[in-house]
Amino acid sequence: MATASPLSAHDTARLWHTLSPAQTLESRAASAAGLSAAEAQLRLDQHGPNRLPEGKRRSALARFFIHFHNLLIYVLLAAALITALLGHWVDTAVIMGVVLLNAVIGFIQEGKAEDALQAIRLMLSPQAMVLRDGRRQSLAADQLVPGDIVVLQAGDKVPADLRLLQVKNLQIQEAVLTGESMAVPKQVAAVAADALLGDRRNMAYSGTLVSAGHGLGVVVATGVDTEIGHISTLVARVETLTTPLIAQMDRFARWLTLAVLALAAAVFVFGVTLREFGAAEMFMTVVGLAVAAIPEGLPAILTVTLAIGVQRMARRHAIIRRLPAVETLGSVSIICSDKTGTLTRNEMTVRSLALAAETLEVGGTGYDPHGDFALAGVSLDPDRHPLLQQTLRAACLCNDAALEHRESGWCVHGDPMEGALLVAGAKAGLDLTAEAQNLPRTDLIPFDSEHKYMATLHHSHAGEALILLKGAPERVLQLCTQQHNGEQLEPLNVNDWHARIDTLARQGQRVLALAYKQAPTTQQTLEFADVADGMVLLGLFGLIDPPRDEAIAAVAQCQAAGMQVKMITGDHAVTAAAIAAQLKLTHTDSVITGHDLDQMDDQTLRRRVADVDVYARVSPEHKLRLVKLLQERGAVVAMTGDGVNDAPALKRADVGIAMGHKGTEAAKEAAEMVITDDNFASIARAVQEGRTVYTNLKKSIIFLLPVNGGESLSIIAAVLLGFTLPITPLQILWVNMVSSVALAMALAFEPAEPDVMRQPPRPAREPLLSGFLIWRILLVSVLFAAGVFGIFSWSQLHGSTLEESRTYAVNTLVAMEVFYLFSVRYLRAPSLTLRGLLGTRAVLIAVGLVLALQLIFTYAPFMERLFDTRPVDFVHGLEIIMLGVLLLFILELEKLVRRRHTARRTPEPEN
Ligand code: ATP
Repeated sequence: MATASPLSAHDTARLWHTLSPAQTLESRAASAAGLSAAEAQLRLDQHGPNRLPEGKRRSALARFFIHFHNLLIYVLLAAALITALLGHWVDTAVIMGVVLLNAVIGFIQEGKAEDALQAIRLMLSPQAMVLRDGRRQSLAADQLVPGDIVVLQAGDKVPADLRLLQVKNLQIQEAVLTGESMAVPKQVAAVAADALLGDRRNMAYSGTLVSAGHGLGVVVATGVDTEIGHISTLVARVETLTTPLIAQMDRFARWLTLAVLALAAAVFVFGVTLREFGAAEMFMTVVGLAVAAIPEGLPAILTVTLAIGVQRMARRHAIIRRLPAVETLGSVSIICSDKTGTLTRNEMTVRSLALAAETLEVGGTGYDPHGDFALAGVSLDPDRHPLLQQTLRAACLCNDAALEHRESGWCVHGDPMEGALLVAGAKAGLDLTAEAQNLPRTDLIPFDSEHKYMATLHHSHAGEALILLKGAPERVLQLCTQQHNGEQLEPLNVNDWHARIDTLARQGQRVLALAYKQAPTTQQTLEFADVADGMVLLGLFGLIDPPRDEAIAAVAQCQAAGMQVKMITGDHAVTAAAIAAQLKLTHTDSVITGHDLDQMDDQTLRRRVADVDVYARVSPEHKLRLVKLLQERGAVVAMTGDGVNDAPALKRADVGIAMGHKGTEAAKEAAEMVITDDNFASIARAVQEGRTVYTNLKKSIIFLLPVNGGESLSIIAAVLLGFTLPITPLQILWVNMVSSVALAMALAFEPAEPDVMRQPPRPAREPLLSGFLIWRILLVSVLFAAGVFGIFSWSQLHGSTLEESRTYAVNTLVAMEVFYLFSVRYLRAPSLTLRGLLGTRAVLIAVGLVLALQLIFTYAPFMERLFDTRPVDFVHGLEIIMLGVLLLFILELEKLVRRRHTARRTPEPEN
């Protein structure tokens, strides 16, 4: 922008609110019908995509140097300095080399983990509904250009800065910009130039959330030119790669480091004073001890394990928005799921049409608009049935979906249930376009799950006005006073209709009612009061929406995994119960409805929630109450949601799950996880992955800690007994930073253990290191120390040189690590199975790599100089491997004894 211009780009942008809609359209060279695709492309080239620059990442150099900011590295750098002062140049070079290698590996791993998470975040890029070439279409929000006409609906995130052209009860929550969490009602009229951002009622700003109503606006600014684009700090937010478990381990590692340093100081004093070792030698010993005892590779490995787990979940349709959820997923004990589209296929078909005098069956399958209408099995001609025509017409007009014929078949844009109504209309020969032209829509009350209906106002060309209403049958019945019997109006027979609703619902059909009313010709807008009474009922539609096969399997899987599945739906109680029975939920005999919920106090409800699995005609506030009560009973609750009003319940749930397709942006923002295919089976898989990630994190920990434990025990024992060190500090550095890291990395790729979904959920408060794990860590530490010390002393006694004995000791440690890796892959189950021994690709690669590295370490002449190693002969090589095998056998034996013991202790099932 030229600096000579009286107004900067930002200032110009700030004046949109002073213009009228027409002026805004003119100045953005736009029209209410939207831009043409060609024009939009031109503007996209000119303005660039509607994206904010990525959050500023730390520079590569900063990210590299952060890996030196670590207590252990400081210790090592000090050791390097002191060895240099002592003239031990080789030691200095090795220490520096390892420190550098550690930073490089950390840098690369962390970079990869961050990239993976970034890629996953991009999978959630929002969509916008725009008018282009006169047609409504859904578009990636980053394709928006100034001049585009955008449609806003409750739950949307405003995709760019918009000057509003039409509003209908539009309310927008602008907390990101103004800090004000109350939603602001919007208007079309211009406001004063000096109005503050929060007072510009005719603007909708990028990044804010539509909390109610709907509207239409013209894009005035995109990308960095938007108001949010000016607040760079918001975007620079980078999520840290952590979960409570990892944070806990970080703290543990820091404390351990301090404790080890104190211990090292004590050992130093002990060695110099009581054992009369030389200070220089003792110094290297305690450096060795520090290196041995501190699990330096652990934090990086945990981070990578987490990132890999999250990536694996994304491939299976579960996108984690907040990392701690990965862990929480593993302890979920109750899953509360929506019905429509999550447990069912959301491929609706109208099966029944109940009119005042008769109930017709509707034939045909899917969205193909061919099928007949039959009465008691006899086909009838829809053209001769005016009430049928009128009811279908109403269903097609009070409707926002569109039916399209593509090469691949018929498809629906919009709500599948509304699509099914259009299909039924087409089956009766209605020309959907002509109908819409004959009775154009003047105004609308959009559907929301609070009211459970939608209404439209239409005007014929002759000027007659007509209100159409469609919604949940009990709601619609409340608003009706009369019914149409095909010839005339008559008083509403409420009982008869309720009985018919019940009959349809019992067959698992979703029931919808249609009503109408004549309105004064002058009426141009539609308010709730207009439909509050005096409506005339036309009929009921019964739609089938069968359960997803994979949801039935997933429900069974969740139940086997000790979780309860509860259905919380907006649908009718009887329909919900019928579908719940097909899904084989545990308790389907009783249903609690939203109405019941309103009557029940917390105490009663808290008692009942345990054995009721179906909640019907529930509105979003009820969901919040249910989550709270379930949590009060100690459950860890996962809850699905899609609407804007579901946000509080999603936030309150331990794991809020939003639907990727159906879900509004508001729900996604509030959720911890987004399921991209809206399928319940993906939730079950995410739980499985969550459990696996947690186990893998735990496995990495109990793999690495005993290595440190074994090494430290060997050093302390040597000092206490006045022996030479069986492994030198440099060799320990090699094992910890090269071999252990390579092997532990394989655990990040571990697949789920076969029985992962046959175990009950992990108690939320379970400590990370249970008694069992602490025992295992101690046992393995002692076994490692025994192996190292054993081979060292044995070979010393049998005439090997010190260097040779140490080389045997290092190789024994690594061999034991390799076999321990096979053991640790199954914490309790046997590892000596075909599956266990074949490992995974990652395990085999890691073992191959470590083998190659150990061969170089042992036989390469330059390694001999650096690490003081000597070639290992065949017999000793065999002994080393046998020690590894022995460790595996001992641990297998321990597992066997433990399994027997547990089996004996497990009480007989109660009868
Ligand atoms: P779930 O909560 O399991 O997704 P649901 O789709 O039935 O189930 P809501 O979307 O809250 O839940 O809908 C509640 C009821 O409102 C539905 O059972 C139906 O009777 C009615 N309804 C749903 N969509 C529309 C619509 N587009 N127009 C009119 N009525 C609707």
